Amino acid sequence: MYLLLVLFFILFSLGSAELRATLYQNPEAGLATVTLELVNTAPKTVALLRWNLPLDNRFGSNSFLVRFNGLPVTYLGPVVKYDGPFLNDYVLLEPNGAITVDVSLEDLYDFSLPGKYDVLFEADIMDYIVSQNLESSFPRETFTPYLGVVSNSLQITTHDSLAPKGMKAPYPCSSQETSQLNSAATSQKSMINYALTAINQGDSAVYKEWFGAYTTARGTTTAECISAITDNSVVKYACDDQPGVYAYVYPADTTHTIYCCEAFWTAPNAGGFDTKAGTLIHELSHFSNICGTNDWVYGVNGARNLAISNPSRAVANADNYEYFSEVQW
Ligand SMILES: [Zn+2]
Repeated sequence: MYLLLVLFFILFSLGSAELRATLYQNPEAGLATVTLELVNTAPKTVALLRWNLPLDNRFGSNSFLVRFNGLPVTYLGPVVKYDGPFLNDYVLLEPNGAITVDVSLEDLYDFSLPGKYDVLFEADIMDYIVSQNLESSFPRETFTPYLGVVSNSLQITTHDSLAPKGMKAPYPCSSQETSQLNSAATSQKSMINYALTAINQGDSAVYKEWFGAYTTARGTTTAECISAITDNSVVKYACDDQPGVYAYVYPADTTHTIYCCEAFWTAPNAGGFDTKAGTLIHELSHFSNICGTNDWVYGVNGARNLAISNPSRAVANADNYEYFSEVQW
């Protein structure tokens, strides 16, 4: 029995990741720029998925807790619906290997008031793989998340109001893209109306599948969110040719600009999962003055599992609204 326990412990520890996150003050005076260091403290090489982390240097991410006078400040950066993952979505860390990235927090969080800010890195790694040789396909069904990586806390003092760099310029769409977007927007409006009818039925099998055990409070949250998407008439579209990405938005953006990327154009208009119309619902749900959802998990299985394991997060997860709506089509 003892031997079995030892064996189990060895196998378990070889198969898990251990990470240390440290946040350093950046000497650039006056700015809220920090350096994040992630160290692999396990005796094995690990591959970390870059999604929703500063490890994806194309997009900012909401992976810090920034407080002013003890209260969290508003996140102003983007949220991304990824396709894949693909090989280059992972970064390899050897034993004791470190990766460091500089993050300009003033571009991602509201630093408009001069004064003292408390900052720490606090994020989940959506998937890690303990291996040196990565396969070429990484199904979302086999994701192993590494939850709750937390760094030390830093205090940053700013002397001026810091303005964020702001959103990416809204790239124009081609005439072909515009025509596909018009069809997707028409389908999105029908789809969300079907979803509104379904959500107003309250407790049901399809509710449980995507949002978990029914409670009055969570039922109200989901009905209000779907109703807010249905009522929304403010939306703009931009086209950005990012590979491996469906779309992204800035949740604090009141113009509701949806940046459509490479995977969006190859997705079906409607019918099935991860469609163009469904992606628009996913993105609309992110805006803070519509639903303010997050991307806690991605993918059909991830969303179904989240409904079972954590219904409070399922009712705040963008893909759960997308899939609930797509199955009404
Ligand atoms: Zn999203």
